[in-house]
Amino acid sequence: LARNPGEAEFHQATRELLDSLGPVVARHPEYTDAAIIRRVCEPERQIIFRVPWVDDAGQVQLNRGFRVEFNSALGPYKGGLRFHPSVYLGIIKFLGFEQIFKNALTGMPIGGGKGGSDFDPKGRSDAEVMRFCQSFMTELYRHIGEYTDVPAGDIGVGGREIGYLFGQYKRITNRYESGVLTGKGIGWGGSLVRTEATGYGTVFFAGEILKARGSSFDGKTVVVSGSGNVATYAAEKAAALGATVIACSDSSGYVVDEKGLDLDLLKEVKQVRRERLSSYAEARESARFVATTTGGAVWDVPCDIALPCATQNELDGDHALALVRNGCTVVAEGANMPCTPEAVKVFAEAGVAFAPGKAANAGGVATSALEMQQNASRDSWSFAHTEARLEEIMVGIHARCLETADTYGAPGNYVAGANIAGFIQVADAMLALGVI
Ligand code: NDP
Repeated sequence: LARNPGEAEFHQATRELLDSLGPVVARHPEYTDAAIIRRVCEPERQIIFRVPWVDDAGQVQLNRGFRVEFNSALGPYKGGLRFHPSVYLGIIKFLGFEQIFKNALTGMPIGGGKGGSDFDPKGRSDAEVMRFCQSFMTELYRHIGEYTDVPAGDIGVGGREIGYLFGQYKRITNRYESGVLTGKGIGWGGSLVRTEATGYGTVFFAGEILKARGSSFDGKTVVVSGSGNVATYAAEKAAALGATVIACSDSSGYVVDEKGLDLDLLKEVKQVRRERLSSYAEARESARFVATTTGGAVWDVPCDIALPCATQNELDGDHALALVRNGCTVVAEGANMPCTPEAVKVFAEAGVAFAPGKAANAGGVATSALEMQQNASRDSWSFAHTEARLEEIMVGIHARCLETADTYGAPGNYVAGANIAGFIQVADAMLALGVI
């Protein structure tokens, strides 16, 4: 902790992993001998850079860019870019750290990294977003590549931003290197299902939890938080499997729609018009909007299944108690670390099945790896084929978490299973590669 002062989210993420590793260290003294834990907590490389750009009024704006290349024992660094005003080194390091073990769980040959900027795309014109992305890539391009480091999207970085980033990379390098970024558009090297993958994958994972308990999504009520990429497609898949998704949120508040969310309207409001969630409620009679300023949270809405899909630490101990009181039995994290340690404790004590993000939201990066496979073979797969691969991967991760949890004396504990399975895979590769 003293080596990384002020990086609260990074401390939280490392502590959460290390808490699970007691039985692993006891069984594998070779990890301690090779200082694997100390080494895995230290990024291989951290890059921080200036991002100057000119806004529509002709004023020079300045942001800070980050790329943390955390661990490449299993493959090139892989992980998204986040554009959000809250971004600082501690956020990028927590995300990069989680990414190492998530990527290992997918079984694909990808290391862990993450990047981003404190740039806020909200309220910016397309031209401003483009100029920012071009400036960001003008530094980042020298650090990334198909065999080195392959960024993708995250909060604030969707298809539009990936397009501008890829365009600038291509222009600077004079190479059409499709494999340098994932989340590309379908017409220029992207993969079908990548847009939907994280949300769909989270629901596939939650579906496996329900199946293990003799149940399914059919007839259940679901609450998602967020209304961005992950939330929208988690809601879409849950509804397709027979659930009623009755609430979602953004940073301005949440909507409750007892008839079930109208996903076409939600996409129109958030993806096309880029408006606040209150516009959804204005356009739909069965919906009501509750502003964040009222002090309430989307977790006050009674549901069977909760899918936090917005951001870190959005669901605290009190929210967890409200969910438990209202009968929620399954929580699967679509976002990265949305539940605080206090919330996770409440779920454990109440017997709520809890799936951590590094397992439950791994479908996004897994499908990015499928995009890389398609780029490498200059092929493009059908939606049905790619979705089947995604589902197979999520079913596999679920099984691996449960098996590992059993082996290490924590039956049914998805947190322990995910942490231990991901860690062992990375640790074994690091041992094999020597002290580097
Ligand atoms: P988007 O930018 O598409 O959507 C983010 C959503 O979360 C928006 O509704 C946003 O509301 C809300 N949100 C963001 N920050 C806050 C905040 N501080 N307080 C309240 N609400 C907030 O991002 P994604 O859907 O891509 O990402 C969501 C989560 O999923 C993140 O944790 C991300 O790391 C994780 N994830 C994403 C993957 C992907 O493939 N995209 C892969 C794996 C994990 P508003 O618009 O008001 O800001």
